[in-house]
Amino acid sequence: MYYVTTRSKGVKRLASEAIAQGLASDGGLFTPEVFPKLSQNALDTMREMSYQQRSVYVMKPYLDDFTASELTVFAKRAYGENKFDTREVAPVREIDDKTFSLELWHGPTCAFKDMALQMLPHLLTASLEKTAERKTACILVATSGDTGKAAMEGFRDVGGTRILVFYPKDGVSAIQELQMLTQEGENVGVCAVEGNFDDAQSGVKRLFSDEALRAELAERGYFFSSANSINWGRVLPQIVYYVSAYCDLMRDEKIKKGDLINVCVPTGNFGDILAAYYAKMMGVPLGRLICASNANNVLTDFIRTGLYDRNRTFYNTISPSMDILISSNLERMLFEYSDRNEATVRSYMDQLATSGRYEVSDAVKARFQEDFSAGYCDDEATRAQIRKMWNENHYLTDPHSAVAFRVLENYRASTGDETPTLVVSTASPFKFCSDVLLSLGKQPEKGLAVIDQLSDLTGIAPPRSLAILKDRRARFGQVTTKDQLAQRVLEFLK
Ligand SMILES: *Cc1c(COP(=O)(O)O)cnc(C)c1O
Repeated sequence: MYYVTTRSKGVKRLASEAIAQGLASDGGLFTPEVFPKLSQNALDTMREMSYQQRSVYVMKPYLDDFTASELTVFAKRAYGENKFDTREVAPVREIDDKTFSLELWHGPTCAFKDMALQMLPHLLTASLEKTAERKTACILVATSGDTGKAAMEGFRDVGGTRILVFYPKDGVSAIQELQMLTQEGENVGVCAVEGNFDDAQSGVKRLFSDEALRAELAERGYFFSSANSINWGRVLPQIVYYVSAYCDLMRDEKIKKGDLINVCVPTGNFGDILAAYYAKMMGVPLGRLICASNANNVLTDFIRTGLYDRNRTFYNTISPSMDILISSNLERMLFEYSDRNEATVRSYMDQLATSGRYEVSDAVKARFQEDFSAGYCDDEATRAQIRKMWNENHYLTDPHSAVAFRVLENYRASTGDETPTLVVSTASPFKFCSDVLLSLGKQPEKGLAVIDQLSDLTGIAPPRSLAILKDRRARFGQVTTKDQLAQRVLEFLK
């Protein structure tokens, strides 16, 4: 299996090359040349497998240049019980007879990013060996809150790598910030950027294409790599949990073999829901892919109208990991829906870069609407949803997942579509204690006391990795402007 890029199909790379490189040098995103198929029998076979086994089974056909035994070792390390607080890794919880929550936050940093970022370091270091790369990978991450911590936790003290994280100064929750600032490991660095996530992300993207900086780095024995969701090594592990959830629902007799289910995904950079689309392409019986956004509803408008327009007010919401106006992974969808026409993709992306907007053809729009639905809700509706689900279902949800539950309710009310639906739950409610407490009508206490406060109120034990934060000291504290990122990189690699 080879990988092409969304901007030049002529380029063909092995999986290890695509993963080692991250972003392609033409600015495009690596994408598999074809999608391997999973038959109904394959899904049956996976029913009784562990999550680790399922991950090997799903990922192997995409990774020709890796052996199954290599992947088995990676899966054990990534998804073992020392990492995840439940043996199921990504458990499916029943909310009611047609609504299921796929909990992706049982990993070390309590957000769904762990699902991919526990696996990526293994894929990446093996890829570096396979491509005979002798330089050290300098991994740059722009984070809206969760990726940075999960990436550092995944890469900490991993040989042959150094990792530097940039996050928007006022765009992450207090707990998210503390999680990052207390990160351990000799090879990690963290820096706040004045501005919002898009500023941090565009800044990091610019670094990747800065030839002078690349040359300087090469001189010092480094090269850039990415742990953002543009890296294929991050998208691939995310396909696994959709397959796994379907197998769980069959195994637990919530659905029958071949039944369609919908998925509803709280969306920011479009990585998570893109993996759902790929699972569907592989043959998992997924129906509507419902894209849920907060007040930053650029994707809702796009999926409904075909016009992508980032020229709009940016809102800081209580679901900060979805405060994004440029969803990088959408490029991979444009590539599929334009029948892999790289000139079309380039033209949309050029327009986005120059004017901040583009309008897709009617054909592309129609293809989107065949697979995707979209909706959004504001902070007030998000809080109401948290309160309602706690009161009615005794289910505690974080603000990101609450957006998806709310959007699903709206979708059902407006379409009458009652298909069983998997809602992707992307963060532990304990990562966003203050907003969850406010939603439940409580005044949050100061600082980290909110963790115990939420636990006392609900009778739910907080995840261990958050409970121990109060005994940790901040190691970092640097703040930079968005045009100084290159200098920060050079200092970090001194
Ligand atoms: C990253 C993140 C999202 C958005 O996922 P994308 O893949 O960027 O669409 C949603 N919720 C949480 C908690 C996240 O960390």
